Order: sequence, then structure tokens, then C-alpha cells
Amino acid sequence: MPGTLIIITAPSGAGKTTLVKGLLERDPQMFLSVSYTTRDPRPGEQDGREYHFVDVATFRALRDRGEFLEWAEVHGNYYATSKVWLKEQIAAGRDILLEIDWQGAQQVRKSFSDAVGVFVLPPSLEALESRLRGRGTDSDDVISRRLLGARGEMRHVGEFDYVILNDELRRAVDDLVAVVKASRLRYANQRLRHLQYFDFLQQD
Ligand code: 5GP
Repeated sequence: MPGTLIIITAPSGAGKTTLVKGLLERDPQMFLSVSYTTRDPRPGEQDGREYHFVDVATFRALRDRGEFLEWAEVHGNYYATSKVWLKEQIAAGRDILLEIDWQGAQQVRKSFSDAVGVFVLPPSLEALESRLRGRGTDSDDVISRRLLGARGEMRHVGEFDYVILNDELRRAVDDLVAVVKASRLRYANQRLRHLQYFDFLQQD
């Protein structure tokens, strides 16, 4: 029985990483895909844990070899999801979370049409700006670029199945847990889990 694929997208500063951490703590059946990126590690980030950090030449070589399910340029850096790893995990029945941008989400939907898309919105644009400044890890220039990018990213909210407003972390984690639970209960998933029972129900 294949696993469920959840895509979670948000403008940077919407609190997505904290939200995802909250979900992973509450749901031991959910695994996070580790993306490839060409950006530099932030303080505290570890290669292979937050990202596979690679240089541009390595990224391009992997991309040209067809190693990526999707890739995108975000804020001047490249990001990608490993194709082989993800397909293996889903085939093995694992539920996987992809923390990727809207461009990546569009590409993933082409290969996994039943992937569930979740968009995380900050409570307001003002809150988004103050969160980006409060993080203190990026320069002013990077922050301005990200704010501009955030507006563009949020225009794609309508392409997603679920929307979570991250105004209060606890409630937002509850919402995400509920979305994952509902996704596992979709007809197609339940039918595969209880094949004999469902087939019996179709008999005269
Ligand atoms: P950050 O550099 O702040 O960790 O991430 C910047 C943006 O890149 C976020 O919007 C994040 O969702 C996106 N991102 C991270 N990994 C991937 C990936 O594998 N593919 C795509 N398309 N976007 C990604």
C-alpha cells in the first residue's frame, strides 16, 4: 500500500519549519524529505539533516542526470527533491512530507496526482515582515528579496487543497495533524488498506 505524499508550501517567514517540526513530533509515521540546495548552511544547520548542501556544478550534474523529481530556483538558490529516494519511500508505504515552494509543488503534482497540497499563510503581511526580521540570520538585502518573493508565492494559495493560517502555533499544528489524518482516510487509501472488505461491499 503506497504511502501518502503531503506537500507543504509557504512563503519564508510564515513559520512553516516550526509547524513541520510540531507535526513530526506528534506523528511518528510521517517522514520529511531532505532536499538538495545550493544555498549556504545557516548557523546550526547540518548537511544531510536540513538539506543536502551542494555546489552549483554538483546540483546541475545531478539535475541533468535526472536525479530530481522537481527543482526550482528560489531567492537566487537552487532547490530540488530526490526522485529515487521519494519513489522508494512512497512505494514502501511511508508517508512523506515535502517542504517545497509552489513551483516544485506544481511539478510534483504531475507525477503524484493524489499528493495533498497544504499552504501555510502568515496571519498578515506585517507579521510576516517582523518574523523575517526577527530571525536575524539574513541580511537586509535578503529580507527585502524574500518579502517581495512572499507576495508572489502567496498568489498561488488557490492551487492547494488546504490552507493553514499560522497565527497561533499550537492550533496551526493541530490543523496540520488533522489534514494528515484526513488524507490517510481518503477513499482510495482506505480501499487499499481494507481491500477484501471494500470488494465485498461492491458485490450483490
Ligand atoms: P530556505 O532556504 O528558507 O530553507 O527555503 C527557501 C524556500 O525553498 C522555501 O520556500 C522552501 O519551501 C523552498 N524549498 C526547500 N526545499 C525545496 C525543494 O526541494 N524544492 C523546491 N522546489 N523548493 C524547496
